[in-house]
Parts: sequence; C-alpha cells; structure tokens
Amino acid sequence: MSTPYRVALTGGIGSGKSTIAEQFSSLGVPIIDSDFIAREIVKPGQPALDIIINVFGKEILTENGELDRLKLRETVFANEPARIKLEHILHPIIYEEIDKQSSEINFPYCLIVVPLLIETREWKRFNRILLVDTIEENQIKRASIRDGLPIETIENILKSQASRQERLKYVDDIIDNNVEIDKLGPIIQNLHQTYLDCSNNNINN
Ligand code: ATP
Repeated sequence: MSTPYRVALTGGIGSGKSTIAEQFSSLGVPIIDSDFIAREIVKPGQPALDIIINVFGKEILTENGELDRLKLRETVFANEPARIKLEHILHPIIYEEIDKQSSEINFPYCLIVVPLLIETREWKRFNRILLVDTIEENQIKRASIRDGLPIETIENILKSQASRQERLKYVDDIIDNNVEIDKLGPIIQNLHQTYLDCSNNNINN
C-alpha cells in the first residue's frame, strides 16, 4: 500500500480546525489528530511519560500518577529552554505515530490536524498545507465560549502562537472561517476534489 498524500490542517486556537476536519471526515477522508496522539503518548505506561518524568521530575504528575498537563503547560509556557526540551521529547514520537497511522490508510489522501505546524517549523513533512483563517475576534469569542475560559486567557494563548502573516508564508490553501459553518460545504468539496487530483498526480509522477 502506498503512503497517501498528506494534507496538514493548521490554524490558531479556536480557528475551527476540528469543525472543518469533521466536514472532510463526512466525505470519507481519514483524519489524523496530532493533539489526540500527543495526549495518548503521555498516558501512564507510555515511554514518553517516563522521559518527561526524568527531565521535569515527579512534580509533574498528579496524585494518581498521570501527567498533570496543566502544570506542564505552565512550566514550559514562559520558559523557552524547557519548552524546546519538551518538544524534542514529544515531536519525534508524535511524528512516528503520524507516519504509522498514515501508512495504514487506504484512501488517496489524509488530513492531519497539526495546530502548531508553523510554530514548530514542520511543514516539510507534508505534501500540502491547509490553513483555517479566522479573525482574532472570532477565535477569541468562539474559543472562550467553547472552553468556558476568560477572554484574557485565550488572548494570551493567541499571543504565543504564530501570527496570521507568518502562517500565510507557508500555506497552500486557505479556508476563510469567518462565515457560517453551513457556507463552508462547497469550499470543502472543492478542496476535496483538489486533493484527490493532487494525490492522483503524486502517484503518477
Ligand atoms: P483548538 O485548536 O483551540 O482546539 P479548533 O481550531 O479545533 O480549536 P474548533 O473547536 O473547531 O476550533 O472551533 C472552535 C469553536 O468555534 C467551536 O465551538 C466551534 O463549534 C465554533 N466554530 C467553528 N467554526 C465556526 C463558524 N464558522 N461559525 C461559528 N462557530 C464556529
């Protein structure tokens, strides 16, 4: 079985990646979610957790031995060397799992949701980059309603992410998600056809 054409779906907090991934999924497109993988690989018994404990200490665990994700996030949020260290632990394992999952796919292409693709400079791993482009006002409003978090918290996360200008340098396709969700159908259908064509050309080249 040949590896499918790999489309990375990226965008900032609350931009609508999961919402759009669901729409592709309803067309039969296999979705790989790097956030889900990132959560799975740090579960008790997984090798990534042992490495994290070695580097960050047992203080990073909750009372029942699970990774305290909030504590870890706080530890690395304002500490760049610690964040880089954590990325060096997690990213190779995440990408190994992405490679494994995509090699098992029997479809011309797959969509891989990678929120921090631009920040982590990993775009070369993919055949094509699709950006969910949403104005900050909508990102903040939608994410704070979804997560029940204060607007300032979402604003701080947003500030730590790549800017729109930075993202635009690396993307191939853009979905403007400042419209109502039900207006996105034809746009997604169009991109779906583009990716089927690309995957076909990819095989023939
Ligand atoms: P994160 O990276 O923060 O997990 P995300 O990019 O996956 O976020 P979603 O969870 O898909 O974003 O969307 C954020 C919120 O905005 C959700 O509650 C979703 O239902 C809502 N939303 C997404 N797109 C639209 C839209 N076009 N109109 C209104 N609400 C939307």
